[in-house]
Amino acid sequence: MSFDHIHPQSKGGATSFENVCLACRSCNEYKSDSTEGQDPLTGEVVPLFNPRMQQWSEHFCTVAR
Ligand SMILES: [Zn+2]
Repeated sequence: MSFDHIHPQSKGGATSFENVCLACRSCNEYKSDSTEGQDPLTGEVVPLFNPRMQQWSEHFCTVAR
């Protein structure tokens, strides 16, 4: 595991409990300094999940197909 800065250091994010979470190295490197991503279903650009501010069960859901 590695420390992920939720608000990236390169964009002024602090190394503090409120701004750091654990992530596996490959996910952390893939995320890089991104803070938002494109929803593959709607195409909408949305903020990435913030584990310090959001509940996993509310951010991610299963879509019935
Ligand atoms: Zn991972």
